[in-house]
Amino acid sequence: MLAIVSAIFIAALSGCNQKQDYVGFVFGTNLSIHLNEKQTSKTIRQINGALADLEKLTSTALVGSDIAKINKSAANTPITVAKATFYLLKWSKELYLATDSAFNPAIFPLVKLWNFDPEGYIGAAETIPSAEQISSTLAYCNFDYFLLDEKELTVSKTHPQAMLDLGAIAKGYGLDMAVDIIKSNGFLSIGGSIGVKGDSKNIGIHDPRGGKTFGVFALGNNEKVSTSGDYHRFYFASGIRYHHIIDPTGYPAGLGQENPAICVSVIAKSGLITDALSTAFMILPFEKIEQLAKKYDCKGVIIYADKSYATFGGYEFELINNEYSKAI
Ligand code: FAD
Ligand code: MG
Repeated sequence: MLAIVSAIFIAALSGCNQKQDYVGFVFGTNLSIHLNEKQTSKTIRQINGALADLEKLTSTALVGSDIAKINKSAANTPITVAKATFYLLKWSKELYLATDSAFNPAIFPLVKLWNFDPEGYIGAAETIPSAEQISSTLAYCNFDYFLLDEKELTVSKTHPQAMLDLGAIAKGYGLDMAVDIIKSNGFLSIGGSIGVKGDSKNIGIHDPRGGKTFGVFALGNNEKVSTSGDYHRFYFASGIRYHHIIDPTGYPAGLGQENPAICVSVIAKSGLITDALSTAFMILPFEKIEQLAKKYDCKGVIIYADKSYATFGGYEFELINNEYSKAI
């Protein structure tokens, strides 16, 4: 399925000084923009344009994107990419190393094998891949197989089957670009990743296993929040839940663990960081999460399967759903 940017204005646009709400679609997910400043239609046009441009560069599903070209390329063939793509790949390299490859932008062959890619995902499966398929595919899900040449702005891969997927970082970067475009006051959400400019906003965290809100917190000026979980893209096979975040063993994060993380929210000034780390924190142990929270100046909360939660980085929020209790 290809993403399209559609436009529905849900507030009247009779003047330039009005609060304006906009909903659309980008990166295969929902976009909503709420502005409380002048010249809102121009800002919305600019945000849409910037996000559409980024999607055209980074989508695995759009023929001709930088990432699609790299994925299709033969081994040892340099592919010239846009500055924005290179910037994301450079950050991806840093975060891949910092998270001991929990954040792995070269995971795409496994995402496809498990049918979690945009083309393959239907929300259901009768069988899962075999252990042999998983281990043979895992062998080339290695970001070290991608060589980044900053001077030439090229990327080449040394293994012909290696492929990239920026699905856990590009949305967050898009959020950063969009918030920068807002001049004074507003907020926006891209598939549940939220960014604020100006007045702080109260944000609710969904209960990963129910309709009630888990908790509420205030997101301040220029802050972003991203949430990863086992309930966004998943299916059940033989009564077991399989979800789209694949860990360094080649299986969905937490599979077979007694009390896995099922949802992680990360807050920071950089959406690129919140997006990538919310994914990695679904995989990493708590001590490593605390270390990385310090290093990248972020805070947040991890919700575990047994309805306990742990905060990191000095995160404060109001617990709404009292079925949950503090683990650490
Ligand atoms: P996150 O936790 O932020 O990311 C999880 C995603 O990252 C997985 O779905 C997988 O793709 C990848 N991933 C899995 N494990 C790891 C890992 N260990 N390290 C790094 N990455 C990992 N979806 C569509 O259905 N149709 C589209 O046309 C479409 N186009 C897109 C275009 C772009 C540019 C992007 C960025 C995404 C697109 N998507 C599309 C995917 C979709 O919007 C979300 O990215 C996806 O649903 C997961 O986002 P998330 O925030 O829920 O999870
Ligand atoms: Mg993410």
